[in-house]
Amino acid sequence: MNPPDPYLPGLGDPRYAVLAYDLDLDYTIATNHLAGRTRLECRILTDTATLALDLSGLRALTVRCTGATVKSHAQRANRLTIRFTERLPAGTEITLTVSTKGAPRPRRGPDGMAGWEELDDGIIVASQPHGASTWFPCNDRTSNKARYRIALACEPEYAVIANGRLAERRKAGRKVRWVYVQDEPMAPYLATVQIGRYEVREQQASIPCRIVGPPRLRTAITTAFADQPRMIDLFEEVFGPYPFTAGYTAVVTDDDLEIPLEAQTMATFGANFTNRQWESQRLIAHELSHQWWGNSVTAGQARDIWLHEGFACYAEWLWSPLGTGVPTQQRVEHHWNRLAALPQDLVVTDPGAKHLFDDRVYKRGALTLAAVRAELGDDRFFSLLRTWGARHAHSVVSTADFEALVAEIAGRSLTGLFDAWLRSPALPALP
Ligand SMILES: [Zn+2]
Repeated sequence: MNPPDPYLPGLGDPRYAVLAYDLDLDYTIATNHLAGRTRLECRILTDTATLALDLSGLRALTVRCTGATVKSHAQRANRLTIRFTERLPAGTEITLTVSTKGAPRPRRGPDGMAGWEELDDGIIVASQPHGASTWFPCNDRTSNKARYRIALACEPEYAVIANGRLAERRKAGRKVRWVYVQDEPMAPYLATVQIGRYEVREQQASIPCRIVGPPRLRTAITTAFADQPRMIDLFEEVFGPYPFTAGYTAVVTDDDLEIPLEAQTMATFGANFTNRQWESQRLIAHELSHQWWGNSVTAGQARDIWLHEGFACYAEWLWSPLGTGVPTQQRVEHHWNRLAALPQDLVVTDPGAKHLFDDRVYKRGALTLAAVRAELGDDRFFSLLRTWGARHAHSVVSTADFEALVAEIAGRSLTGLFDAWLRSPALPALP
């Protein structure tokens, strides 16, 4: 059983694991009203007569259960606590069905707001790290990956994009109901739905690939995402096979967004990223690479976020020579110089909840990989990345797991290197 995450206080319940989520939701854009029911197949992990779901901003109307008898449920402080008439032994499997309704809105956390959010004319769900509970009751623990089926009905003039493959789309009264199935396990924060007046276009690539956005941006999106198929090819070569059978969807919103964000099998970009500048191109590569690093291979604790962001940032630098002609090592040197000029008061593997997404975690995490590459040589370094992706596909990892694999491939411990790069504030010498 994974311990609670100290960076995400008040989230998740280690007494049980959700095996599968089945969401059946009805949403009205005009009023921001979300109603529906979520079915959760759960396994009890430690004997208990109580368990808690995360649920924020929505009201739980009813709770039903098969496999146990519910005595009562109560909602307080973003938690839906369910009491059973008797203690459930570890190993018991139950199915909870929770109906909810309300006006979903983002939830505040240590590093800002996350979750369901209204755009000018649509919806974005950006849940990292603590926002999943804003649209469905869940056990919001990164380490609790589960299968998902997401059905959402909405006004017919909007496209609804969610994780996994589109299994069904049909008229339901005055609305259209979209059903998505995510076969590979997914952490709750990576579950998403994007709603807008979008057109969905296929993009020719070695995996099923789609680009989605408002028609007014069609040309800009085509141009901006033109290299995405080559990025996929590069990352399959250096990281290993693309991890998800449903392929990849890049969604562009009609609104500008501060930053893009990855979700499983998808990423979402603001209209302001639809150009050929490196600042946009690097992020297109970055979000794509999160399918391997973050979504398939997921840090079990938020403090290990460098295993997502350092890797995704290094992926940008791997793409750089193909995309812009600037060699990877030139990116390494540039960012080492930039970091050298910034305060060195942050520890990569323990940045603190407020600095989880501090750019120094990203860049120094990427530089750590550059240091490992310099130590191992190219052949063993890329073998390391492919082994890391294959061995831990669809599971949860820690920095210690990564160090152990590096030691295995190097034939010796590189603790000194990791101590210097990940566990000491002072910036080590340029790799
Ligand atoms: Zn990222």
